[in-house]
Amino acid sequence: MNLYRSTLRRRQLLKAGSVAAFGALGSALAGRRLFTFGSHSETPIGADNSASPPLLDEPLQAHPAPCPSDDLPLQSESSEGFLELAPAPRPLEHEQEYSDFLASLDLRHISADEVLDPHRNISNGVENILPPESLWEKLAPTLRVADEIRERLNMPLLRFSSAYRSPRYNREIPGAVRNSYHTRNQALDIVYFCPIRDAYNVAVQLRNEGFFRGGIGLYPTFIHIDTRGRTATWRG
Ligand SMILES: [Zn+2]
Repeated sequence: MNLYRSTLRRRQLLKAGSVAAFGALGSALAGRRLFTFGSHSETPIGADNSASPPLLDEPLQAHPAPCPSDDLPLQSESSEGFLELAPAPRPLEHEQEYSDFLASLDLRHISADEVLDPHRNISNGVENILPPESLWEKLAPTLRVADEIRERLNMPLLRFSSAYRSPRYNREIPGAVRNSYHTRNQALDIVYFCPIRDAYNVAVQLRNEGFFRGGIGLYPTFIHIDTRGRTATWRG
């Protein structure tokens, strides 16, 4: 979205005075902040689970995670800071080919563009890139989990804050482990409309049903899902 369209859209929302619109913008802004500054640790590949953060065998019950929009001051909407956070769309090498591959997966609720977006991120001046073709298929099982969560929640996905990360880009993400499953194209960080805990609970349920084997990380505003082939659970 270019500057003019962003400004126009914001004015339209301000004019409408819609609380819902502010909420949606706030959620988007929360996601953008994750996208820009967000980081999380995760269990390293090959690490003993016992050395990981406390494992959560059951869905969390206490202390609901804050809604992504809870901590968003409304003044952000009336400052130019909002526009500064919007990244400029950056074309990606082999974008059309990867998009065609993603479309071929016939996901019910996830578009190719949603998956492509986090690959346009830049951290500390290092541009992320699309995964090499040899890793494309690796993401399919994780995408099917994200798609099923969305189906069961009957709640829209807001965005992916992270998908594949090139090793070089991954090194610029504070807190990211060196061999993150994101560098293997097996992991997704997913921002849903709140409450994020509901998405976490559905993910745990799916794993208990045998829908997938992998990692689930609960963070204040997103969940991490990967299909590493063994169970890992943590809170970030
Ligand atoms: Zn992650």
